Amino acid sequence: MGLNDQWMQRDLAVLWHPCTQMKDHERLPLVPIRSASGVWLEDFDGKRYLDAVSSWWVNVFGHANPRIGDRIKAQLDQLEHVMLAGFTHPPVIELSERLAAITPEGLSRVFYADNGSSGIEVALKMSHHYWINSGQPGKKRFVTLTNSYHGETVAAMSVGDVALFTDTYKALLLDTLKVPSPDCYLRPEGASWEEHSRAMFAHMEQCLAEHHREVAAVIVEPLIQGAGGMRMYHPVYLQLLREACDRYGVHLIHDEIAVGFGRTGTLFACEQAGITPDFLVLSKALTGGYLPMAAVLTTDTVYAAFYDDYATLRAFLHSHTYTGNPLACAAALATLDIFEQDNVIEANKALAARMASATEHLRDHPHVAEVRQTGMALAIEMVRDKDSKEPYPWQERRGLRVYQHALERGALLRPLGNVVYFLPPYVITPEQIDFLAEVATQGIDIATRESVSVAVDADLYPGFRDPG
Ligand SMILES: *Cc1c(COP(=O)(O)O)cnc(C)c1O
Repeated sequence: MGLNDQWMQRDLAVLWHPCTQMKDHERLPLVPIRSASGVWLEDFDGKRYLDAVSSWWVNVFGHANPRIGDRIKAQLDQLEHVMLAGFTHPPVIELSERLAAITPEGLSRVFYADNGSSGIEVALKMSHHYWINSGQPGKKRFVTLTNSYHGETVAAMSVGDVALFTDTYKALLLDTLKVPSPDCYLRPEGASWEEHSRAMFAHMEQCLAEHHREVAAVIVEPLIQGAGGMRMYHPVYLQLLREACDRYGVHLIHDEIAVGFGRTGTLFACEQAGITPDFLVLSKALTGGYLPMAAVLTTDTVYAAFYDDYATLRAFLHSHTYTGNPLACAAALATLDIFEQDNVIEANKALAARMASATEHLRDHPHVAEVRQTGMALAIEMVRDKDSKEPYPWQERRGLRVYQHALERGALLRPLGNVVYFLPPYVITPEQIDFLAEVATQGIDIATRESVSVAVDADLYPGFRDPG
């Protein structure tokens, strides 16, 4: 048995993997990774995989990046952790200063959590708590867009709308208001992204007009609905939303956990709309993909509503144990340095253009309904019928076939249902983008030609044995 197989068998005897039907692994091999460098992951047989999804959208400057690693190592010898209530430390102070400086004007306070979902919980609780402190305790509902994803904890799921992740837990969820998404994949023929996003805002306007007295906040994934299939919309929607939230006295929460730090082509997506949300939630690429951390930025106005004598009980008594961890702060500081020193946002323009040109031909593919892109995120929508956009039944798992093919070719592409996407690290080269496009094209050809089964071709995975 090869080393890959040995690790896989030990794993399957004891682990329970995230977002996985474990029975799939009776047939689908796990990929044990020994090491990684730059855009490449390497397994125990020495096979390499190009990480086209930035290891679940976190790794922007490559694996084993010495500029991030060295900063963490130096911090490790200085201070690994201290609780953040009553205590503080230079990395968290410096990071807060810098986040306030690089985010839109008005976001001046930073609260930390240790993962994205918890960051969402912070924003939701803080918003409702703000209204309590401001004498409007009835503002307790949240408005969200259909097809949203905001994380896995119960309140974060409540403001999400990807059925696959939330339907089972319906009985546990908060009662939220769902407004049809401005998702431009669904636009009528001939309409531009801007026209469609603008038209779809009527639903939001109507919801706020009707419910604003009981609404604490609207929460959105700006410009890209990630887990919902990389669906995209125009920044005009965010402008209209900001204006309406002000008019109706409702907070605006931007979940930039996935899109923050350059993914949409600007450092933050809200820049493209020229607006400041009341809460900006950051995570994922915040630490360059090195350590878990989330930051919730908010305004002086929100902060001031909590600032009072202790006995008034207005304080935000929320904590996560690892809040503001110094090692994670060090990783984040190194990541911000790279953004600044390497002029990353500008450099990414050429890479984004290459992503577009390398996949241009897929627009004509008989089973591709759309190739869409916002900055450094590109998605290819596979469909059964190109004209009607009729999707493949999810049971056929066409995306999984693309995943299998990509692994065979040495790439990590992990489609969301029938949507194949690239969210690569920003250190990818143009030639590597071409390679990904070639692998994706082949994978899509195979997945849309063959009937699909999870069965693994023994030739593709020599040495793989069914553990059952
Ligand atoms: C990943 C993600 C989350 C959840 O973050 P976790 O760290 O996985 O809890 C929330 N919102 C969006 C938009 C995300 O992409």
